[in-house]
Amino acid sequence: MASQLVREWTGLQQFPVATQQTLYELMSKLKEENVSFLTILVLGKGGVGKSSTVNSLIGERVAVVSAFQSEAMRPILCSRTRAGFTLNIIDTPGLVEGGYVNDHALDLIKRFLINKTIDVLLYVDRLDSYRVDNLDRQVVKAITNTFGQQIWQKSLLVLTHAQMSPPDGLSYAEFVNKRSAALHAAVFEGAGFRKIEIVKDLEMKAKNTVASSVSTFSRTMKYTVSRIEREGRIPVQLHWILRGTMWMIKSAYDMVRGTVSKVPAHLKTLPLPLCRKIRVVLVENSGRCNTNDGGEKVLPDGTVWIPNLVKNIVEVATNGTKPVLIDKKLIEGTDPNQMGKLLIPLVLFLQYRFLLEPMRRKALRLSDWEEDGFEQSSSSRILFPEIEELEAKVPIRAKDLEEEEE
Ligand code: GDP
Ligand code: MG
Repeated sequence: MASQLVREWTGLQQFPVATQQTLYELMSKLKEENVSFLTILVLGKGGVGKSSTVNSLIGERVAVVSAFQSEAMRPILCSRTRAGFTLNIIDTPGLVEGGYVNDHALDLIKRFLINKTIDVLLYVDRLDSYRVDNLDRQVVKAITNTFGQQIWQKSLLVLTHAQMSPPDGLSYAEFVNKRSAALHAAVFEGAGFRKIEIVKDLEMKAKNTVASSVSTFSRTMKYTVSRIEREGRIPVQLHWILRGTMWMIKSAYDMVRGTVSKVPAHLKTLPLPLCRKIRVVLVENSGRCNTNDGGEKVLPDGTVWIPNLVKNIVEVATNGTKPVLIDKKLIEGTDPNQMGKLLIPLVLFLQYRFLLEPMRRKALRLSDWEEDGFEQSSSSRILFPEIEELEAKVPIRAKDLEEEEE
């Protein structure tokens, strides 16, 4: 960023006093966290309000706004500084051209971003649209392929044109929820999070199984010891208790192993990012936006949107996930999501091998303990009904599963 011209953030003084106060508070919060500058990348299709949002945030007309999509073909970086804090915002050309993802625009953007670190991505769309289609998923996919899945941990879904009246008798909140849910689904699918969530879910179940089994094991051992202390001799039932314990260990082992083996091979190779829910923030860039008594722009639901947007930006920037460095490797590498893929089978393996010797409380049915073994075959099915759902939902080649099961 050093080569860019950093100007004093005079636009800040154009905001109503209450907005300025909130922004100064947020800047000092960042300073407390040793953050003295933020870099925000603004992406989205053309004409959705990216440049207008940049102008609204800066409080100056820095980016060209156009109603007819003859927008700038190059990204622009705007840097403003105030009270020891620097805000960098990168406005970009629209990512769709002639009904297709504009790879040329994406290429320009990524080359422009080389050696920059993105603290927050604002993925912009309109609130007052009713459709989410395959093109939206394609745009998200193209962003993911370019910057890696981790960019979504640093993102906000910004919806412009938020001063609107919902159709079909829907309330404002209902409409916002529906539109957000549809866009969330598109982002999750486009970014490939849906499958990862299933793997994470299974992994969490396996962890819970291990934890509860360890506790059952320790309770069983305590019971045995107290019997020995109380009776001054080894109880005759010790043999059965130990057999039961051994069975529980084995069945927990089988459960975890069963879970692992049922995850289809192509899902096991996915990374495990912290898949946080991407927040939706509403924006109204129009000069006709309603204002409150303090002159601050308010949305139909009463949100004072500029401070709210900045607050969300600060929260994403400080959410503990790493900012995304756009380095040569990321740009030239074929798939930025490769990292960590190999770790997944290892993590799963370590979980059942070393945490294990476990058993699930649910599986502890003392009354079922019999000398000649127990019904084990269905245990992983009972505990992991999702496996069947997973098999139904995710298109898996039958061959993959057969190989896994072998
Ligand atoms: P970009 O192509 O994504 O950068 O979109 P622009 O910022 O150039 O905006 C495209 C058109 O939408 C312009 O005519 C803007 O005035 C208008 N626009 C952008 N944001 C809003 C908004 O929140 N509300 C309304 N009413 N119009 C907006
Ligand atoms: Mg623009």
